[in-house]
Amino acid sequence: MPTLLWLQAGACSGDSMSLLCANNPDLVEVLNNYQIELLWHPSLSPQSPEQLGHTIERINAGEQELTVLCIEGAILTGPEGTGMYDTLSGRPKMSVIEELAEKAHVVVAIGTCASFGGIPAASPNPTDATGMQFCREEHGGLLDSEWRSAAGLPVVNLPGCPVHPSTVIQALLGVLLGMPIELDGLNRPRMFYSSVVHQGCSRNEYHEFDVEEFAFGGKGCLFFNLGCQGPNTMSTCNIELWNGQNSKTRAGIPCFGCTSPLFPKEQDFFATAKIGDIPITLPLGVDRANYMAYKGLAKAATPKRLLDRKNEI
Ligand code: SF4
Repeated sequence: MPTLLWLQAGACSGDSMSLLCANNPDLVEVLNNYQIELLWHPSLSPQSPEQLGHTIERINAGEQELTVLCIEGAILTGPEGTGMYDTLSGRPKMSVIEELAEKAHVVVAIGTCASFGGIPAASPNPTDATGMQFCREEHGGLLDSEWRSAAGLPVVNLPGCPVHPSTVIQALLGVLLGMPIELDGLNRPRMFYSSVVHQGCSRNEYHEFDVEEFAFGGKGCLFFNLGCQGPNTMSTCNIELWNGQNSKTRAGIPCFGCTSPLFPKEQDFFATAKIGDIPITLPLGVDRANYMAYKGLAKAATPKRLLDRKNEI
């Protein structure tokens, strides 16, 4: 029977809460239908921390199989490399995680903090937080870049703040059932991280014709003025809607780029950094000169229904 152990390090529990919103299928259906034994989850397991300690001892002694180890949250290595800012049964959690990673068939980093360090690793990073195998966009976190699990895989990164519940469920099922998994250069499964948030956004036509909002509450695009990072952020947010209903950009909130290794960037989330009228960061892969020429033409050709904000979003 495949087994799953989920530990939290420097985390806010957001990814666990997101996981509980999975509904097609939900976590309980996955565990029951595929006969997966949940060895521990901090919010779902009735066992005491002492019993968790016993389970960890059995895994390390080779008496208990560990198929998938999920880590939620950044690894806190401070103060001064001791890891004592975050402990489990008196031991630095970073050491506990490192030992378990050696036993697990596959290790999965749940969320941006576990993948890249995320919010805890943002400057000034007072706890010396890092990701499992990346620190921000640099290779090497708790584990070095050459590290591989028993299945021959690096840590599988599922970034997102939080990560989309369907991404977690589908990725976990894939690794628990031993299905092949193709990763990108940041060790994210291509299946979930090869399209940008902009794809599928209901404000897309406004973007194409450069109908942009200057204040919140409108129907236009949020890219030019209100900080949207949707054209530069790999995620399924507008393809697989949250709770099957909505996404940030559909609801009028700019994408903050939360699946990116540099999240959170040191910039205002709600404003677009520009030089003059031109955003400093253009949509992924777009040439600046062509983009500006295209934008000028598109603006001149904007249909009246878009200027009147008649499109539904
Ligand atoms: S709001 Fe963001 S994601 Fe939506 S169309 Fe504009 S740039 Fe793209």
